[in-house]
Amino acid sequence: MDLGIKGKVAFVAAASKGLGRAVAEELATAGASLVLCARNAENLNLVAGQIVESSGVSVLPVAADVSNAEDVARAVKAGIEKFGRIDILVTNAGGPPAGGFEDLSREMWEATTRLTFNSVLELTRAVLPGMKERGWGRILNITSITVKQPVENLMLSNSLRAAVTGFARTLANEVATDGITVNNILPGYTRTERMEELARAASAREGISEAEANARWEAEIPMKRLGEPREFAALAAFLVSERASYITGTSIPVDGGWVRSLI
Ligand code: NAD
Repeated sequence: MDLGIKGKVAFVAAASKGLGRAVAEELATAGASLVLCARNAENLNLVAGQIVESSGVSVLPVAADVSNAEDVARAVKAGIEKFGRIDILVTNAGGPPAGGFEDLSREMWEATTRLTFNSVLELTRAVLPGMKERGWGRILNITSITVKQPVENLMLSNSLRAAVTGFARTLANEVATDGITVNNILPGYTRTERMEELARAASAREGISEAEANARWEAEIPMKRLGEPREFAALAAFLVSERASYITGTSIPVDGGWVRSLI
């Protein structure tokens, strides 16, 4: 299927690894030019070079911390200076720390609010005026299955991703007549470094091995396996494509059937 985004410019946040990287690769395959950000310039430059080599699209890597509003503004500005515009925004960041309410200090709440929620606001703030001017845009937030069904011991993720979802749903209505769609894509348990991090946390908390933690998650998933980042990226690419022009304000899981609700 031709996604109709050849020549569009996509900004993919937190794109040096995992889901962000997989989405960047998929969009490059569809012919989009890319602006990629992550905190570590060295890793990011390496990934950008690999994507250029495999797909031939133009890629601008910008080292930036998405939890810092000035970094976000600088990264988007660099992208606009190079390509003239940002048509597609994929928001993403590292995962919130695991823990229950009594494990989390006020500082952790504040830092994670900046990482998980404010990053979405600042990225959106930076790209939205141009999208409105051109009458075309796609905003896709990578959130989590925790918005459909909270996960035990992920208090920060369960809380702050709900805030992102409320923001996105409201914004979707505000910009619906500007040719801009706003959606959320909800990863289930997917094989990235984030899962290794969560397995280490479960192991330390419960005295089980990381393999046991993984086996427990697999048992909860109807498909009995973790997802692969490219399985997630396939839906992300569709949702930011021209073809998804009538889909807005929605939250779609890619989870092997993990969320048990009917809709
Ligand atoms: P990952 O740890 O594999 O990769 C995270 C990426 O974010 C890396 O490129 C890292 O460099 C970058 N990053 C981290 N903090 C950043 C910051 N402050 N500024 C800029 N870049 C930053 O994680 P992942 O599995 O790809 O997950 C991406 C998001 O999806 C996370 O928020 C995670 O919690 C969420 N999620 C993942 C899963 C899963 O199973 N993998 C499930 C549900 C939700």
